[in-house]
Amino acid sequence: MSKPARVFDCHMHSHHSPDSLCLMRELCEQAAARGAELITITDHWDFDVTCEEYYKPQAYFDDLERTREAFAGRLTVLAGVEFSEPHLHQALLEDANSMPYDYILGSLHYWGFRGIYADDAIYAGPCYDAYWHELRRMVAYGGYDAVGHLDLPFRYLKVLEYEEDVVDEIFSLMQITGLVPEINTSSLRRGLNETMPNEALLRRYAARGGKYVTLGSDAHHAEDVCAGLPEARALADRLGLKATYFQRRKQVIL
Ligand SMILES: [Zn+2]
Ligand SMILES: [Zn+2]
Repeated sequence: MSKPARVFDCHMHSHHSPDSLCLMRELCEQAAARGAELITITDHWDFDVTCEEYYKPQAYFDDLERTREAFAGRLTVLAGVEFSEPHLHQALLEDANSMPYDYILGSLHYWGFRGIYADDAIYAGPCYDAYWHELRRMVAYGGYDAVGHLDLPFRYLKVLEYEEDVVDEIFSLMQITGLVPEINTSSLRRGLNETMPNEALLRRYAARGGKYVTLGSDAHHAEDVCAGLPEARALADRLGLKATYFQRRKQVIL
């Protein structure tokens, strides 16, 4: 067994996602140039009407295999997927669980506030109420490894709202279903000075028994690979949370 990777990025997108044009090779070149030892390419498996036919697992795995071979010895390239609303797409989640992914990242992208992506005026209160309600259902279901950008509306609304007892229950449920939150740094590239989730939320996670996080840039462009990860790692260290990644669906703890 080789030594665990010290520098890694567990969340990024290639052209196998509907919202990225990036080649896998370009993601890998940038990761290697930034000193990463390991990356996980987590393309979107989405069920929104505009993109539900887009993702083709076989095409993804074929491309990943070629990319892995091209970077053998320079960079470990793991197979991941960012699977939307796993609790609402249970049969397809089962399919995903039967495929050779190293990592399944569950994310809540669609919860009745589509306008959030179109910069429509959205009132934060109802948007967050609906979001946390649906996220609670999603983490109670489980069946995947980690929760992507746990407070996603923050990236778009630029304000964070939550009821403490609701997020505490979400973090407690994650302990039961074995889910790890990621520290997602994409908010730092949108003029926000906090990761998703931020320090206050991660403290609540730690207080509910949380010990681990994964780290992800959520890059959709090669130049964003590994962006913000030193800050995310420093935050995890400060809170006593261990940075981990998943390989063959097993958590690797540094
Ligand atoms: Zn996402
Ligand atoms: Zn993503």
